[in-house]
Amino acid sequence: MGRMADLPHAAPLNAALRLQVRGVVQGVGFRPTVYRLAGRYQLHGWVRNTSWGVEIWVEGRAEALAAFQRTLREEAPPLARLEEVRAEDVPAQGHGDFTIRASTPQEGAYQLISPDIATCPACLSEILDATNRRYRYPFTNCTHCGPRFTIIADVPYDRPLTTMRAFTMCPRCQAEYDDPLDRRFHAQPNACAVCGPQVTLEDGAGQRLAGDPLAQTAALLRQGQIVAIKGLGGYQLACDATNPAAVRLLRARKQRPHKPFAVMVTDAAALEQHATLSAAERALLASPAAPIVLCRWRESSPLAAEVAPASRVIGLMLPYTPLHHLLLREVGRPLVMTSGNLSEEPIARDNDEARRRLGGLAAAFLTHNRDIYARYDDSVWFVPAGGPQPLRRARGYAPYPITLPEATTPILASGAAWKNTFCLTRDRYAFLSQHIGDLENAETLTHYEESIALYERLFRLSPQAVAHDMHPDYLATRYARALPGPHVAVQHHHAHLAACLAEHGVTEATLGVILDGTGYGLDGRIWGGEFLLGDGRGFRRAAHLAYLPLPGGEAAIHRPLRLALAYAQSLASELPLPLALAAIPATEREIVAQMVARGVNTPLTSSMGRLFDAVAAALGLCDVASYEGQAAIALEMAATPLAEHESAYPFALVAQGEVQQWGQVAHLPPLGQAFALNVAPLWRALCAEHAAGRPRGEIAARLHLTVAEMIVTTSQRLREATGVARVALSGGCFQNRLLLALVLPRLNAAGFTVLTHRQVPCNDGGLALGQAWVAHYTLKGA
Ligand SMILES: [Zn+2]
Ligand SMILES: [Zn+2]
Repeated sequence: MGRMADLPHAAPLNAALRLQVRGVVQGVGFRPTVYRLAGRYQLHGWVRNTSWGVEIWVEGRAEALAAFQRTLREEAPPLARLEEVRAEDVPAQGHGDFTIRASTPQEGAYQLISPDIATCPACLSEILDATNRRYRYPFTNCTHCGPRFTIIADVPYDRPLTTMRAFTMCPRCQAEYDDPLDRRFHAQPNACAVCGPQVTLEDGAGQRLAGDPLAQTAALLRQGQIVAIKGLGGYQLACDATNPAAVRLLRARKQRPHKPFAVMVTDAAALEQHATLSAAERALLASPAAPIVLCRWRESSPLAAEVAPASRVIGLMLPYTPLHHLLLREVGRPLVMTSGNLSEEPIARDNDEARRRLGGLAAAFLTHNRDIYARYDDSVWFVPAGGPQPLRRARGYAPYPITLPEATTPILASGAAWKNTFCLTRDRYAFLSQHIGDLENAETLTHYEESIALYERLFRLSPQAVAHDMHPDYLATRYARALPGPHVAVQHHHAHLAACLAEHGVTEATLGVILDGTGYGLDGRIWGGEFLLGDGRGFRRAAHLAYLPLPGGEAAIHRPLRLALAYAQSLASELPLPLALAAIPATEREIVAQMVARGVNTPLTSSMGRLFDAVAAALGLCDVASYEGQAAIALEMAATPLAEHESAYPFALVAQGEVQQWGQVAHLPPLGQAFALNVAPLWRALCAEHAAGRPRGEIAARLHLTVAEMIVTTSQRLREATGVARVALSGGCFQNRLLLALVLPRLNAAGFTVLTHRQVPCNDGGLALGQAWVAHYTLKGA
């Protein structure tokens, strides 16, 4: 017995484990971590990259193996995302050491690809350290940071398949690359000033300018000039954000009169000067994805008002490449950083393309000789009530997938007309593309087609079915219909609901409150104020805003005054027109009246977005809109704090006959009847208050409260009928902070479980995920 106790371990000395790790585990320093941990626990064996992830073989004492397995997750490098770790006991083979083996490609297998990641603290301190060999080197990166997705043409992720293939590493970079204990071990974009890409500054004609490119660029920016800067995923246009004339010039040249610009500031301390930040906003801004975050703008901020006209919100971001860090420090001022394009074209990517398309926009080009493979805009987030939500999902996020509740066949979902993204599925992954843009010109369509081809190649994916919007005229629909089928046409608002459910992994029936500007309805009308009872399989249209005329069709987006006239005529023709509408020339008023009366080029809409637009216009807050949502934003920005006793405007929820439905609905709770929300009482009360001189800010606030009450009242009525107590909020109207702040506590107090978006935008940028999810069920059910 005594002798037995002397043995320190009862377990066999040489147990062995084979681990298969899936996720983002290549090019992120994962194998060096494995190597280090194997050393710590005195384990032998090997690690290697495979086509689907990383494979590890370790041998040693059983408890050391257990510790290794545990620590592997805890100490995984910052960019690694371990989706799945499969472990099996295997017989030990008696390895004498631990080695990193060559990768083994495997036909048809695929792996997840890391998004581009902001400069890590270690790299930042190197470029700011005058004694470091990477001092002021703008392409410094390591396995914890730097470009990934934007430089990859194909997998496996090795340097020859990236745009870094043009650069041969110098001996010192090569030594880092080869050293398993170095932060740059197998960092594919590894480079230094001796061997890597270089920046140059050129004038508008392509002539190289003498002097230090960064110092020269900074001087131009301080003088109020616009400079095109080649960033991570394309060119950006920059100017001094504290110089009103420079910002006005940029607006004029970019043909973007009103839409807010984002501003990049030097560091976290500088953020506080411009915005009042919550902890969640600070965390997002400083995260490795480093998105633009819409924050509360400080009155005392020195940023020019022209950066975000008439807004209380400012889009801020931190530098995310060494080039940005160095430039911001050199300029010493916050910079407007906006996509290098004319409004609505895709971001310019190649050097000659930038010169052609941005030649008239920028005084100079700060460019470099590392090619960009994938165009990649900055991501945008905000932090409303309920938690952070993306508004534009690109840099730092795509092409990382959303994990679905169950595996699918490969599907391509072609997305929407505006703020387009597409989605490809494989297994349980939904690869939602980066923001593509508004699919309404040839450049964007080309970008769209190239990106689809890239995703199919990277994820070894060939779609077995195609999902698209029901709108027959969307370019994305036509593109999808031209591909081999089967095709699944997905109703727009159903796709919004399905996107929200898919990202939350919810498969049970939910009440989708889907409020947006426009979407093609089952009845061919323009929907947009929808209460859909459903899931990925199908839906019943339980309630909607009562139909109103849309003079000029979807072009009404840009003519909110005409829209307001049409609403006034339909909802309260007996009342005098609000002042802003009475000021419209009589001939134009007559044209709109005739259009509405005869229904000429005047479809009907249940859009909530248009109701916001019409109210904003009636209150004189927005005459012409240069971008979708501008009038609604004006209304939100105008709203002043609500008095405590404030009540909603009156509205009526009226029974509305037969329920429209789509897809598999037999499993959904039955609805005796559908409801329509009649907003005539609201419109009349609102116009009366306006005529009586109530401040517009109070009216705007009261309208928001009314929409929140409409949502709660309608949801309660539908819960009585169906027992469904879970509500999903989606659609572009939920980009409105005030609306979310009003509706969330009320829904919670009424006992509802509320889902808001967390991974994909509530606007059309998230639509393709929902289309794919609906198509999955349609194919499964067929
Ligand atoms: Zn780094
Ligand atoms: Zn080098």
